[in-house]
Amino acid sequence: MGEIRYIDTRGTVKEPVSFTEAVVHGLAPGGGLFVPESVPELTLDGICALADLPYAQRAARVYRSFGVDLTDAQLEAITTAAYGDNFDDEAICPMTPLPDDVYMLELWHGPTSAFKDMALQCLPRFFSTSAAELRQRGLLSDEHMILVATSGDTGKAALEGFCDVDGVSIGVMYPDGGVSDIQFKQMATQRGGNVRVWGVRGNFDDCQTGAKTVFDDDAFARELHERFGIALSSANSINWGRLMPQIVYYISAYAQLVSDGKVERGAQIDVCVPTGNFGNILAAYYARRMGTPIRRLLCASNENRVLTDFINTGTYDISDRTFVKTPSPSMDILVSSNLERQLFELTGRDADAIAGWMADLKAKRCFKVDRDTFAGMRELYAADSVDNAECLTAIRETFERTGYLMDPHTAVAYKVAEHLREDGVPVVIASTAHWAKFGNNVYRALHAIALDEDLPAEVAALTGCELNKLIASETGATGIPAGLAELDDLPIRFTEVIDGNAEAIKEAVCAFLGHSS
Ligand SMILES: *Cc1c(COP(=O)(O)O)cnc(C)c1O
Repeated sequence: MGEIRYIDTRGTVKEPVSFTEAVVHGLAPGGGLFVPESVPELTLDGICALADLPYAQRAARVYRSFGVDLTDAQLEAITTAAYGDNFDDEAICPMTPLPDDVYMLELWHGPTSAFKDMALQCLPRFFSTSAAELRQRGLLSDEHMILVATSGDTGKAALEGFCDVDGVSIGVMYPDGGVSDIQFKQMATQRGGNVRVWGVRGNFDDCQTGAKTVFDDDAFARELHERFGIALSSANSINWGRLMPQIVYYISAYAQLVSDGKVERGAQIDVCVPTGNFGNILAAYYARRMGTPIRRLLCASNENRVLTDFINTGTYDISDRTFVKTPSPSMDILVSSNLERQLFELTGRDADAIAGWMADLKAKRCFKVDRDTFAGMRELYAADSVDNAECLTAIRETFERTGYLMDPHTAVAYKVAEHLREDGVPVVIASTAHWAKFGNNVYRALHAIALDEDLPAEVAALTGCELNKLIASETGATGIPAGLAELDDLPIRFTEVIDGNAEAIKEAVCAFLGHSS
């Protein structure tokens, strides 16, 4: 298969770039996102044949279909290292069947217990291999610093993926006070000589907007180049090298369901995804476009329901929306960056339309898509949101009915799937975190304690790890992942809190680079 090159959603890249360049640059120069020039298609045979391969080879085969400019040997080295015994299940992302043709696609068996590992065990390997290639071709001289804005889960998964990778350092910003005790400790205790973590005063959107501004700052890029020999790049789901690995598990899940005799070959399934930055569900969209028989993409939101409203009305409006805290913080997002890629595809790749809408969003905090785009979206998507109380109730009721314990993000999707699915169509739910990452809210759910009520004093006094043990003993749940169980025993390395504006972020970046060089 020939090489597929990459264009960007705002039409600023005049000469399409290779996969390796798209991975190393992360974001296109004008702020657009890279997408492949053409989307490859797989036959039903090709899809179903994946079931005969181990997951690493399923991934390699899908990557190969995207014509990446890496050799077979390089791809195999990347996927075997990315999807091996760093996961605690041989299937990498096994599916657990629940009653009523519901299948939990468990994307949290990796080292940090969230679905981000599915991509972030792979992206750093793409990144260092790609950077080495570009250096060899004389296209690159600088080393890199990865700058990540996280609502919690990405940060840890990126730190774990990039820690001690050659030629790369990584800085992670998370909203101070906006992540769970477990998430905080996962990041603050991160090992590795090339890592730094900052709390930011503000919410996730402040972090993300700050990061984007810093990425777009040409003068700052020159300064980093001259002072440190460093170029910035991103591991956020705006990087194509992060999105592509996520496509694999939807195709793979379909193949597995057919192979296990749960779904008739060629029959359609629904996929329901708890959505924040729109990366995970966009991967399901690409899986569908590549030929996976997916009937509809069910987009699940929490109380920050801007995406649900957008899919239902065609207007994306955050001019009068306040940011709500929910039990599913990784979906607490107002600006969903990857939606831009979806709109690009829906408009038949109209970069001018995208540039216009994104300018409206920046200026008026609102944009409205045209009728055709809206109609196209309605054919692909259905969307609904779940409020905080309903989410917690779903965790308890599902546990009582089936014995399966869900994290709050997964619970949002479970509930939305119940609302939107069609009879007789099996539904695959993207289960995005192990419950023990969000033990506090799982405890509330199991004991019917509302979010605004105090926990009993003796429970409130427990650390996240201790609380997880309590939940495990009460529910009989086994297997708290090792990476979560040991957190109380590790030293806290990072406690710095900075402002969320671009100046403060730039200062922190320079201090880190100056210190580590
Ligand atoms: C990141 C995350 C999500 C949202 O995924 P997007 O790709 O940003 O839409 C949902 N659940 C969990 C647990 C996450 O970590």
